[in-house]
Amino acid sequence: MPPLVAARPRDERGYPVLAITPWVDGVPRFASTGTARTFICAVERLCSICGTPMAPGPVWRVVAGAEADAIEAAGPGFRNAAPTVEAPGHRSCMLYAAVTCPYLARPTARRGADASVVEAARGDKRGLGGAVVGFAEMDHRYADVMMFRFGKVVEFLRHENGEEQLPRLIAAVAGESTQVTPCPAYLLSDEEAADARFASYLTS
Ligand SMILES: [Zn+2]
Repeated sequence: MPPLVAARPRDERGYPVLAITPWVDGVPRFASTGTARTFICAVERLCSICGTPMAPGPVWRVVAGAEADAIEAAGPGFRNAAPTVEAPGHRSCMLYAAVTCPYLARPTARRGADASVVEAARGDKRGLGGAVVGFAEMDHRYADVMMFRFGKVVEFLRHENGEEQLPRLIAAVAGESTQVTPCPAYLLSDEEAADARFASYLTS
């Protein structure tokens, strides 16, 4: 586990809770993405996994099968024509997400809305698997939800199952400082703090 992920608030099982995961009555809602939290991450250039700053330069995402195929086909000049709600993060945080997060990494455990897609793709390699991808360019636009566009692929790490990224995750964590930049309080477990921060942007 990257040190920045280890520093996250935990649920009652001890699992780290992502910066973009909203909390309701003291319980993280893993299946949903908080609009306030995603907005804050975008405008403050914070990682959607750990909530700490991303340095200037590339940002990373875990992409699912169909999108991975489109990026691979387009090559380094890729730019997503349709914006996505999926927020970016640090390289090691996204490798961690690929290895551990069932919603992001496992073709058999996608979000409910995608169940029919997975069913249709069974037995057909397309639409399964995915990749961890680094993009040199990112922009975002807010229209009720935060939407992202990514361009200029600088790294493309293919997997059929996210667990295949484990050696890269281990290598990335080994090269990382254990000095952890604190995540802002409004991206921890206090949803009121996240909402207040979000509201302050909308009214300013
Ligand atoms: Zn991170």
